[in-house]
Amino acid sequence: MNQDVKSENRPQLSNVLVAASLRADQWRHLNASARAWASASPSNASKQREHCQERLDDVLRLEHCWAYPGERLLTALRNALGEGDAATFARLAQKVSAAILSGDYRRDEHAWELDDDVDRTVLDALPPDILGVQDKPYFEVMVVTPADPGQWLRSKDEMRRMRRPEDPFHYTAVHVASFEDAALAMMVNHDLQAVVLVDGFGFNSKHDIPDLKDFVSRHVELDEDDSRAGTLSLRLARAIKGSRPELDLYLLTDRSPEELAGSDEAAPLRRVFHHVEEPMEIHLSIIDGVKDRYETPYFDNLKKYAMRPIGTFHALPIARGKSIFGSNWIRDMGHFYGTNILFAESSATTGGLDSLLEPTGNIKKAQEAVARAFGAKRAYLGTNGTSTSNKIVVQAVCKPGDIVIVDRNCHKSHHYGFVLSGAQPYYVEAFPLTQYSMYGAVPLRTIKQALLDCAAGGKLDRVKVIDMTNCTFDGHMYNPRRVMQECLAIKPDLIFLWDEAWFGFARFNPMHRRRTAMGAAAALTARYRSKAYRAEYDAWKEKHGDIDPSNPAMLDEHWLPDPDKVRIRVYQTNSTHKSMSAFRQGSMMLVWDEDFHHVEGPFEEAFFAHTSTSPNLQLIASLDLARRQMELEGYGLTLRMTDLALKIRRAVNTHPLISKYFRVATPEDMIPAEFRESGLRDYGPPDSSWSAAIDALDEDEFALDPTRLTLICGAAGFDGTQFKGLLAERFDIQINKTSRNSVLVQTNINNTHSDAALLIKALADLSREIESRLSQEGTVGAQVFADRVKSLMTDVPDLPNFSRFHDAFREHPDGASNEGHMRPAFFMAYEEDNCEFVKLNSDEVDKRLRDGPEMVSANFVIPYPPGFPIMVPGQVITADTIAFMRKLDVKEIHGYHAAQGIKLLKPSALGNRRASSM
Ligand SMILES: *Cc1c(COP(=O)(O)O)cnc(C)c1O
Repeated sequence: MNQDVKSENRPQLSNVLVAASLRADQWRHLNASARAWASASPSNASKQREHCQERLDDVLRLEHCWAYPGERLLTALRNALGEGDAATFARLAQKVSAAILSGDYRRDEHAWELDDDVDRTVLDALPPDILGVQDKPYFEVMVVTPADPGQWLRSKDEMRRMRRPEDPFHYTAVHVASFEDAALAMMVNHDLQAVVLVDGFGFNSKHDIPDLKDFVSRHVELDEDDSRAGTLSLRLARAIKGSRPELDLYLLTDRSPEELAGSDEAAPLRRVFHHVEEPMEIHLSIIDGVKDRYETPYFDNLKKYAMRPIGTFHALPIARGKSIFGSNWIRDMGHFYGTNILFAESSATTGGLDSLLEPTGNIKKAQEAVARAFGAKRAYLGTNGTSTSNKIVVQAVCKPGDIVIVDRNCHKSHHYGFVLSGAQPYYVEAFPLTQYSMYGAVPLRTIKQALLDCAAGGKLDRVKVIDMTNCTFDGHMYNPRRVMQECLAIKPDLIFLWDEAWFGFARFNPMHRRRTAMGAAAALTARYRSKAYRAEYDAWKEKHGDIDPSNPAMLDEHWLPDPDKVRIRVYQTNSTHKSMSAFRQGSMMLVWDEDFHHVEGPFEEAFFAHTSTSPNLQLIASLDLARRQMELEGYGLTLRMTDLALKIRRAVNTHPLISKYFRVATPEDMIPAEFRESGLRDYGPPDSSWSAAIDALDEDEFALDPTRLTLICGAAGFDGTQFKGLLAERFDIQINKTSRNSVLVQTNINNTHSDAALLIKALADLSREIESRLSQEGTVGAQVFADRVKSLMTDVPDLPNFSRFHDAFREHPDGASNEGHMRPAFFMAYEEDNCEFVKLNSDEVDKRLRDGPEMVSANFVIPYPPGFPIMVPGQVITADTIAFMRKLDVKEIHGYHAAQGIKLLKPSALGNRRASSM
């Protein structure tokens, strides 16, 4: 154990993503060693002191990245060690580690002082406003400067003196001297909100961090040219924006700021200052920048509204609590929910509350802030879940007859969206993970094949949308850049709808961001506009000629779109409530569509069609707040959840007892090798280095979101549903979905180390119980257990693929593309005479499978889990679907009632439709 801790603590930079949690551990260890030294016997003292030296070296390796504890306290620590003053060393180590663990340095000025007693007088002499920081949010500002480090402390104190009582926040500066140090601090310091670049700093770090260069070069693309003085600041600015787009950047320069400020290069900068400018200006700008992100236009106004005395004569009796606190019978409602939620209720759109349906005021501003934060061109707030957001987007971009190439495993809202809009789904299949009874994601080759099939049938112009789930429930992340690139090569005006219901948080974590729809839209836009791309395209075109949809070799090549024709048209929906701090049903629709002017009208119509005229104000406010949180602390939170997930993965899979019965599926388990070109098997040690993981995230066709943990429980003899119940009842652990032999555990921005510990403990307890039970039950018991495991782990039903639409719903029944008219099939079932029922286990089903006539589903049949339709209206029911249904052991199957049976469209009705459409 000790050995383990030790090697982990030597800060391998490759661990930099988890540097913040490592740091807390390091300080804890230092504190423990310091105590041991202080209380050591004389004979043992020098050994303990050496220990402290090692621990301190560990800590100091990255400590220059944070403002706290800062040079003053660190020097004192070093001195105490040098002078052999164990008591002072222990006191300081205790003080700093406590402040870091508790976050007290954010609110308590004493945490920054060397010695509480001595400096009291100094503190007391300070103006009271400086001490009044307790309630103000705290952040750090990085100053990248060529100034002599001897002056840093003074400069830091100067910046502190700038504080004013009316500042809504307070901050401290952390100084670094070079590009490399800045890149490092930007990655590891979650408290940073702003960066001041002072022209003239150099490139190389003076700190001895061997893998720093490799790390920086991996995250920051740098040309030789860029190390010229002058361009370095701008290069760093671009690099920082690429990793942490939320940070505000300021440049102090001797160059003519007027000229610079107008150039493209200055785009990432919030402001450019001349060297001699008033420091107060900079201070005010820094505060202002953070305020822009802190402001929640809708929520702020709602709070104000709630405080005003208003007589209400509109609908909504609960507004202001009047019908509740005056009631004899429902006063507990008021007590439970509190008064604010009632005071913040209104059905008015006056009083500055704005209207979600026609936003012109603070909702408009809130939406603009969401677009900024999530890297979109436009954003819309949704108050009925992504279920509705998907229908809105589908209906906005599709009209009857349009073809949508869609993953059949998409959430049911997409399928209903097609019924509503009359779009024809062309169902494509994800690769199956039969061993876990689940699907992965749709291979790019499959999507390209579908496009080529449509081209062969002369229908490419009707293909409007590619519609995929990213990431999937089980954590399969697409490579949206690559998918869009290659599809756009075939049809340059395709629209992409990425359902990122689970993935909204991903924007704020540089690991995940590269796999988001908006991240890809930005990357592709920049790429296709560049001169370099044009050259690349010309060369490619030279070699490959025009795209020939009938050439099968094209399927396996990477294709490039024509820069003169390509349009970037990307829509993303996310269930903000699933991964951020929004109330249930809070959802967002993000738009990056270069042709949105053609869609805006239909989008508005679709929004009106699906949005309540009484949208919930608290939902809108919580979306506003979720955005604020992510823009200010999303980086740290998403890194922490990723770190936790990696720790759980490792703890389960390497634990000698737990790993006998449980396992967290690795990328290797979840993604077939052909889609994992990098060959990456697992995240982190012992299998691979971090750089390999980052490469895989960049390039592989699919990558596994590490925060989604498929915990396989079949080898412990539990099926998913049973295990989910067990965790909830005995251990108070709630998990997400289940499959036949697994449950899905996910980490989120709210999870802590204790949560992880709770889960590991539960698994250890259960493993011990199984061991002890097996040891008591002898060979008979062992056989029963083995049979059970076998049934769960190997006798899993094959997942049925989409069969096809019945010919009555297809225009070209012989064509290769499988799109069909789902909407008429759906409405045909409204006529009772058109429908019949067959019992699932009846002989009739087998007879009709064998001899016909074909059975055609009258409606959607959606088992939970897995939650996607195994039958859609108009679909021919085949033997594997029946076999799957017969084996299905879930209770909830939407669209199917066992007592009635499967609802079918009668052959006669289908015949009539065919006849009439001929
Ligand atoms: C949950 C989910 C939805 C629906 O979102 P709600 O916010 O629950 O309405 C849509 N798509 C996917 C992939 C989902 O996981």
